[in-house]
Amino acid sequence: LPEGAKVTRMAPSPTGFMHLGNLFGAIADERLAHQSGGVFYLRIEDTDQKREVPGAVETILKVFSDYELPFDEGATADGDNGAYGPYRQRQREGIYRAYAKRLVRQGKAYPCFCTEEELAAIREKQAAEKANFGYYGSWAVHRDTPLSEVESRVAAGEPFVLRFRSEGDPGRRTKFTDLVRGTMELPENDQDVVLLKSDGIPTYHFAHVVDDHLMGTTHVVRGEEWLATLPIHIQLFGAMGWKMPKYVHTAQLMKLENGNKRKLSKRKDPELALDFYQRQGYCVAAVKEYLMTLLNSNFEDWRLANPDAPLDKFPFNTKKM
Ligand code: GLU
Repeated sequence: LPEGAKVTRMAPSPTGFMHLGNLFGAIADERLAHQSGGVFYLRIEDTDQKREVPGAVETILKVFSDYELPFDEGATADGDNGAYGPYRQRQREGIYRAYAKRLVRQGKAYPCFCTEEELAAIREKQAAEKANFGYYGSWAVHRDTPLSEVESRVAAGEPFVLRFRSEGDPGRRTKFTDLVRGTMELPENDQDVVLLKSDGIPTYHFAHVVDDHLMGTTHVVRGEEWLATLPIHIQLFGAMGWKMPKYVHTAQLMKLENGNKRKLSKRKDPELALDFYQRQGYCVAAVKEYLMTLLNSNFEDWRLANPDAPLDKFPFNTKKM
């Protein structure tokens, strides 16, 4: 890759159709990579089988082809004609498990056998004692279960999830830089978040960290709703001993409903599905051009955070199509 080339990804969950907001995100990623001579790839985050909608993957692929967003890399390269399929997280289960084992060996993750009822009882006790909710510190009852007991419960087939052992303290702050919003800080994460669910499938937090490391992502561009979870991801990259990618949390397209703004929904807003625009006769280039203009709505936040930076440092320089 040339010096300064960026590697970005679009990482949709196949839980509905693609709407204008998803295309907005895809264009942000594609522009950032290709304007820098870098690589843009597609990763299907299909770890939540319960919420998966049949046909959603095909819809995602169709949008990528209809809107001419070529991806450069993927799981099933066809060497002869250079065509790639997207990465699919469900095909990568063994990889997440191998890294999870490494964390267990290092004492940074542990199996938790709590049932739904036990977790509910913990929450009830927390409410009674006016403690914060969650699985952390001394509330995390399986943190120090002796190895022999863990082994016999696992051998007996008792279901468990794998949790991260957090050393975080919300009284302290995690500092980080977002490429649009500048230097920010949030409370450290103290929750022992789940890394692998009881079926062995990773959660978003764990799969994100493993995949974006292995796939060489240099810039994670995602919606601002993920900002609050960045302290978890910073901890996980640290625990794995991996360098963090850069993060860009973008403003999201919102829908005005009864005077309130809300996020677009893959399930609730069929009139925003991309095939709707095609059926209405909007041409692809016009929709893309419109969304690229909207990328400039990140400019104000960027300028406030970077008052002295030269203009060409604004990450979404959409002049060059
Ligand atoms: N699968 C997540 C979503 O669909 C991706 C978030 C990300 O880009 O990391 O919202």
